[in-house]
Amino acid sequence: MPYRAWFSCVAGCPGQHPLSQVIYRCPACAGLLEVVHDEDALGKRSPAAWMQLFDQRFLRTSWPYGSGVWGKKEWVQPMLSADNVVSLFEGGSNLFWAERYGEQLGVPDLWIKQCGTSHTGSFKDLGMTVLVSTVKQMRADGAGIRAVACASTGDTSAALAAYGAAAGIPVIVLLPANKVTAAQLVQPIANGALVVSLDTDFDGCMRVVQRLTDTEKGDSGIYLANSMNSLRVEGQKTIAVEIVQQFDWEVPDWVLVPGGNLGNVSAIAKGFLEMQRLGMISTPPRLVCCQAQAANPLFLAYERARAAGRELNLNDFEPVSAQPTLASAIQIGDPVSLPKAVKAIVETNGIVLQASEAQLANASARADRTGLFSCPHTGVALACLEQLIEAGTIGRDDRVVVVSTAHGLKFTEFKAGYHEQRLGFDSRYANQPVSMTGDPDQAIGELHRLLDQRG
Ligand SMILES: *Cc1c(COP(=O)(O)O)cnc(C)c1O
Ligand SMILES: [Zn+2]
Repeated sequence: MPYRAWFSCVAGCPGQHPLSQVIYRCPACAGLLEVVHDEDALGKRSPAAWMQLFDQRFLRTSWPYGSGVWGKKEWVQPMLSADNVVSLFEGGSNLFWAERYGEQLGVPDLWIKQCGTSHTGSFKDLGMTVLVSTVKQMRADGAGIRAVACASTGDTSAALAAYGAAAGIPVIVLLPANKVTAAQLVQPIANGALVVSLDTDFDGCMRVVQRLTDTEKGDSGIYLANSMNSLRVEGQKTIAVEIVQQFDWEVPDWVLVPGGNLGNVSAIAKGFLEMQRLGMISTPPRLVCCQAQAANPLFLAYERARAAGRELNLNDFEPVSAQPTLASAIQIGDPVSLPKAVKAIVETNGIVLQASEAQLANASARADRTGLFSCPHTGVALACLEQLIEAGTIGRDDRVVVVSTAHGLKFTEFKAGYHEQRLGFDSRYANQPVSMTGDPDQAIGELHRLLDQRG
């Protein structure tokens, strides 16, 4: 196998740890690990040859390369045997030109990357396929892993439960009681996971799962699937490669993404920066990390740095107590991937913004009026896009991509509440169904009157 990858400390401690090792933190400094690839080996293939190979495989059926993630296998998890790949044909999600919406906003070259149009309805599938495949290989090689566990704000557990079920690996999910939607709760139940509802918030669930999967007092036999596990980042970084691929290997000017635990913004930056180092692109796009005002610790750090007139730095950060938000998947006050996200923002000349509840909901509803069906997290990114256009930071000639992170159908309670004016602020784009009798003459007359009203 000519390509190799290993875990290394993000803070730069020496040492390489095999991807088959049960290890989540740097043994020297307890900091985050990241997957590092042998870029000398990858660089022996020319950029044009990589592009050709990725294009040849894209969305075809030759196992496992038709998956948007596994089509880039050499860049993701090169040492995995194809027999152990657990894939549900993730990735390859639609990147569409939001023509009418972009026209309304004044950015005609606006595109939506529908990462939520996926097997379990969120981008979490992209990372979970890599993690569960690696666990399958470790089990095949004799590692004593009894189960895989995660704490979740809803979408991680849905993805883990599906991939675990596809592989026949037991799954434990810890959810904060009453903080996930009905769809998100029913997904791991349907897939047969051991579903536990804890009387705490996400950060509290995270503390429990870390103890459960702790390796300090010997091997617990339970493998941690949270985004502290940097295998997931390798799958999610293919979002960046795929966006460029879908533009026939051209780079957009801006990529906006909602951020909670900050794994995804880190992953997308990693994808662009690796492409740059391998000569596939000359500069990365500017990344915009979009937070809910109710859970905005990275935004506050960014503002502190900006007020002091310097680059964003880890020391600017303080955790917050995350308040309830409609964007429930990003209600996180102490994000696990913070150090990676700080690097991501700095190295892509990025920006961090926030959106209030009314802003995210109205932005989401406005976009829906042009044919989208956006989840509240995507609404956060859309609200931040509106702010950047208003400020003149994003201009008419810019090519902009908004990463939509989940399928709107997972969040029907949010949509219904919005259109019924039940969210505690003015729903500017509320649309109510109209009741009529079954009498054709009455109904038809009434319909024409309503159409006239709409103009
Ligand atoms: C997980 C998730 C996010 C946040 O991603 P992070 O990597 O935690 O920043 C955003 N939107 C949705 C729908 C998610 O499931
Ligand atoms: Zn370290």
